[in-house]
Amino acid sequence: MRKGRAAEVYDKQIGKLPHWYKPWLHGAVTPCIAIICIAIALIYVDWPIGERLAFWVCSFVFLNLVEYCFHKFVMHRPPGAGALSGLHRRIYNRHRKMHHVVFTNVYIVDDPREASLILLPGLLAPVVIVGLILFSGLIWLIGDMSASLLMISSTTSYFAFYEMCHLVYHLSPTNGVASYWPINKLALFHRSHHVPRWMEKHNFNITVPLWDLILGTLKRPSKDDLT
Ligand SMILES: [Zn+2]
Ligand SMILES: [Zn+2]
Repeated sequence: MRKGRAAEVYDKQIGKLPHWYKPWLHGAVTPCIAIICIAIALIYVDWPIGERLAFWVCSFVFLNLVEYCFHKFVMHRPPGAGALSGLHRRIYNRHRKMHHVVFTNVYIVDDPREASLILLPGLLAPVVIVGLILFSGLIWLIGDMSASLLMISSTTSYFAFYEMCHLVYHLSPTNGVASYWPINKLALFHRSHHVPRWMEKHNFNITVPLWDLILGTLKRPSKDDLT
């Protein structure tokens, strides 16, 4: 059972969910968008298969760095003043003051509605869509339509990958898909990021800890650290 501040924040967040909230629908949004974008790319992109795969691999490595930087420098850094400080504050509060308070290393999901505390909130959707349109438009201008469509499809796929990984990493390690290798091993890195004394220092990648490894912030937990 959660106690104190964690119980307070949990009750407030779960209590304000509308009666029509469906965890599976929330979880299905980004995978559905990614599937549509992949289908469009498959139809219109005319690059050879080798170049498409190379683009996707490079894109995923780059997006893994974006994930690292956004988590470390936006979600864990208190907002200052400035034009985007309001948006930054909402993102910071949701992650640092809600997600990390409700889920410490010892708390895992035991109610499907807790997906609402893990999946990206609706307020980020317009920011992501506008950013994606601007970025892919720029690629279209300086490159071509195929590069732009590949960028959109790889970015939306990465988002879906991120959402699913984060959700599964918060499930019980003995529960279904979360119990299989390598998911059970990768989940340990994210659960150790939720250890309060480590969250500002280690494991800022959520999906795969590539840039934590490169930049020296990787923490390999022992079982004792997470109990
Ligand atoms: Zn988490
Ligand atoms: Zn965090």
